[in-house]
Amino acid sequence: MALLEVDAIDVHYGDFQAIYGLSITVDEGETLAVIGANGAGKSTLLKTIAGINRPRVGEVRFDGANISGLAAHRRVPLGISLTPEGRRIFPSLTLEENLLVGGHTKRPGYWNLTTVYETFPLLADRRSRLGVHASGGEQQATAIGRALMSNPRLLLLDEVSLGLAPIVVENIYAALPNISAQGTTVLVVEQDVNQALKVANRVHCLLEGRSVLEGKPAELSREQIASAYFGI
Ligand code: ATP
Repeated sequence: MALLEVDAIDVHYGDFQAIYGLSITVDEGETLAVIGANGAGKSTLLKTIAGINRPRVGEVRFDGANISGLAAHRRVPLGISLTPEGRRIFPSLTLEENLLVGGHTKRPGYWNLTTVYETFPLLADRRSRLGVHASGGEQQATAIGRALMSNPRLLLLDEVSLGLAPIVVENIYAALPNISAQGTTVLVVEQDVNQALKVANRVHCLLEGRSVLEGKPAELSREQIASAYFGI
């Protein structure tokens, strides 16, 4: 059964419509990647699933229940956790304090400080560093670790690779198999198509607020992906 069902949603910012009749499903344990160019609506989709944006039309269902009207902070205890674009870690807290903030829901599960440090060994050495002094990679690992600390059933990752050197991106993505192995369902939004194809079981490509291509990475050709991505 699908853990997440996004059913024919329209999402607006005032008069501007960012998403048009979009439907996606994510099965329990699956890793779905949503790719698309700047402004395609990827972050808007994640924010709508997390409860920061509301669909004007359509429904978001989680584990069979309609959560479209539920506030963002009420979705975290259900098991939905977002790593936002730009990481948004607290600059005046240490990296460890940032992780602890993510654990305040006390959902039971595999993730705690020890397991986060095992998954992101670079953080273990830098735990006392202030957020403001952390590198982009340390901040991204902290942001993902902070989301994991709530023991999510569904982890939403927004633009993991943004602004990071390729080697750092590789290191961060190397943690994803361990995260999936704990049964966590992952929805990752990426502009870096190669990374997305490497980690995902299934891919959706968005163009101007609509899904224009969907399939398993091995079944999609480079040409199909390029024309869906660029709208040619
Ligand atoms: P990016 O990688 O640039 O973040 P994206 O695919 O995540 O792209 P969104 O951020 O979801 O795209 O933006 C979708 C559309 O909605 C864009 O045209 C964007 O300008 C617009 N938009 C996003 N946030 C707002 C906002 N707060 N107010 C008005 N328009 C917005």
